[in-house]
Amino acid sequence: MEDEIISLGMKTIKEKSEIFGDDAGAFRVSDAWMIFTNDMLVWSTDVVKEMSYEDVGFKVVTMNVSDISAMGGKPMFFAFSIGLPEYDKKVEKGIFEGIQAGLKEYGMKLISADTNFSKELVIDGIAIGTSKKLLLRKNARVGELVCVTGDLGRPLSALLISLKNFRVEEDDRERIFEKLIRAKARVEEGQKLTEFSECGIDISDGLVRELKALSQASKVGMVIKSENLPISEEVKNFCEINGLDQYLVAMNSGEEYELVFTVKKDRVDEINFDFTVIGEVIEEKGVFFERNGKIEKPRDLSWRHFETSIL
Ligand SMILES: [Mg+2]
Repeated sequence: MEDEIISLGMKTIKEKSEIFGDDAGAFRVSDAWMIFTNDMLVWSTDVVKEMSYEDVGFKVVTMNVSDISAMGGKPMFFAFSIGLPEYDKKVEKGIFEGIQAGLKEYGMKLISADTNFSKELVIDGIAIGTSKKLLLRKNARVGELVCVTGDLGRPLSALLISLKNFRVEEDDRERIFEKLIRAKARVEEGQKLTEFSECGIDISDGLVRELKALSQASKVGMVIKSENLPISEEVKNFCEINGLDQYLVAMNSGEEYELVFTVKKDRVDEINFDFTVIGEVIEEKGVFFERNGKIEKPRDLSWRHFETSIL
């Protein structure tokens, strides 16, 4: 449905900026790129009961900033429109405090804001950033390594616990929920990446979907070694006690806000932040996972706004 609406919009609206349809849009101003993105948070589909109002405000900033980082940009300004079902000072103050915390975290300033009343609480954020160089989805080249920052699987594990009562050991609960409740965008890494990489995307809908987007845009394929996926001990433990496949969870966990990028083999050692090499760009189109020496097509559980077929 969402894909159909996007494709209708792409066909109908023809006046587009020079860079459009990547993680963010961009246009050139003298020797730099201005990067723009907007992303809307809808209460019923983007908020879990474990989140405070402050977490919600912080999340709106993070989900927008992450797309600036995916393009290699330095986040500069933030704007938002909020639709509220009623005036409730506790709710609004919490959300505004969260937005403030996000702006402080990422070194941004608020440039514009609007409030209105609506049936459901929605917050549409806009982030503006800048970069000398852009990371683009279409720039993956055969032979490059596929890499990812951070670890994968915690947000989906947390959702399964929150919405479906999956079991979790008490010692693991906080770490598992940490990212779903207060994920942080990879702003430093995104900016540094412009030195080493040409191609990047952030994980909002799960690794499988992001790899598909990179492969399609670049007209290449990717093969990922399942055993290389960075999965935390807490997620491994969670999957084991619930009889889940840890790789399936890691590959389909959304709202990770990690960066996936490609880099030439002879430059990988220069990268000066933590990341994991998970695979390689290949000629054969499609996304493949290698597990115990066998190549398989990954199962796409279609994460979107906390909805996935695993739930
Ligand atoms: Mg994105």
